[in-house]
Amino acid sequence: MLRSNSEELIKKNIARFVDNEVIPQAQELDEKGEFPLELFREVAGMGVFGIRYPKNGGGAGGNNTLYCIICEELARGMMSLAAITAMQCLMGTNFLFHYGTDEMREKYFLPAMRGEKIACFCLTEPEAGSDLGAVTTLAKKSEDGYVINGMKTWVTNGPVANFYTVLCQTDPAKKLKGLNFFFIPRETPGLSVSKPFQTIGTRTTPLSDLAFQDVRIPKEYRLGAEGQGLSNLLSILAEIRAMTAALAIGLQRAAIADSIRYAHERTAFGRPISKYQLIQAKIADMATDLEASRLLTYNATRMIDNKIPCLKEASMAKYFATEAACKAADEATRIFGAYGYSMEYSVQRYYRDNRFLLYGGGTHEILQTNIARWAGL
Ligand SMILES: Cc1cc2nc3c(=O)[nH]c(=O)nc-3n(C[C@H](O)[C@H](O)[C@H](O)COP(=O)(O)OP(=O)(O)OC[C@H]3O[C@@H](n4cnc5c(N)ncnc54)[C@H](O)[C@@H]3O)c2cc1C
Repeated sequence: MLRSNSEELIKKNIARFVDNEVIPQAQELDEKGEFPLELFREVAGMGVFGIRYPKNGGGAGGNNTLYCIICEELARGMMSLAAITAMQCLMGTNFLFHYGTDEMREKYFLPAMRGEKIACFCLTEPEAGSDLGAVTTLAKKSEDGYVINGMKTWVTNGPVANFYTVLCQTDPAKKLKGLNFFFIPRETPGLSVSKPFQTIGTRTTPLSDLAFQDVRIPKEYRLGAEGQGLSNLLSILAEIRAMTAALAIGLQRAAIADSIRYAHERTAFGRPISKYQLIQAKIADMATDLEASRLLTYNATRMIDNKIPCLKEASMAKYFATEAACKAADEATRIFGAYGYSMEYSVQRYYRDNRFLLYGGGTHEILQTNIARWAGL
């Protein structure tokens, strides 16, 4: 994979942090299932959260490729931390950065860049997942702003967040054209946050419901021009899909590295299992899928950096890399034999954590449907 010197340097720095600080703690943190606040602050301290924002706006002046390189590297160590980081860099802060007032940026965006505040992105509702046209959380215009009623679910970081970017319907008759994003600080009266969900994977990334009961916000808290919610979402959809693909690459790399190490160590019938061609075939397929995932993903990120529309390329990357990550984690648990079923080794965590990648940015059924349409069906 060709990378510039600055990309290599950032990758090496993050890799060092992952090897020294993240991997040694990942198993224990996963068992505890607590939000990894210390690691989150350390990631902030490396200037990561502002990677895709310009320096003159409080960011680090990087680009989408760098963002994805960082997400990939973190996911190699701990998918939860990578997911939290991905949310903080992109979906959780993007609309606040672009459409918030100076005061909102000062009070929330800049502290989020420093890791002092945690951000969330809320689209999904109990009755509206893939189908955003079914969103019913209502933001009704009042004299001086909006009153919000409704419910969001599956909110990544919901239980620990300080502010939320929330997709609401402002005029049900307008359907998709009535969708708008709103900024809602946690302390706003009428907003309640549920207990964290119990989930099978990414156990240190907490998820919750949010309930809005007569939540009153000023009109400045609408993020973007009226009726532009969906098109603003579409403006970052390729980035979301490419980022998810990068997370999947990190997980593939972890699964392959652990499998190779174990295949050298483990002997059966008097030889290391790495000498058996059926084990070699698994590694060969995993390595080939990894290379294909990289080519698809970083092709999409370079297109994003060059402002070339690439929703198709990013969707293919997300679809392929995530399926490859699921396959790699599955094969890794097989290479480990019975120990792949034990909680002792990390491969079980990869096997559980890969599920996280299947939903955000579009389920694979939705992606396949889109890809088939772009292919001419
Ligand atoms: C770990 C995790 C973290 C999440 N984080 C967030 C978050 O931070 N913010 C947020 O807003 N949401 C979040 N979500 C929710 C996620 O975005 C939704 O799960 C996703 O949009 C799918 O919605 P759904 O689960 O309601 O499934 P549904 O839309 O109900 O789909 C159910 C099944 O039907 C299939 N299906 C639906 N429509 C079609 C169709 N037209 N053609 C073919 N098949 C179809 C789907 O692919 C799926 O298999 C998270 C989910 C998880 C599991």
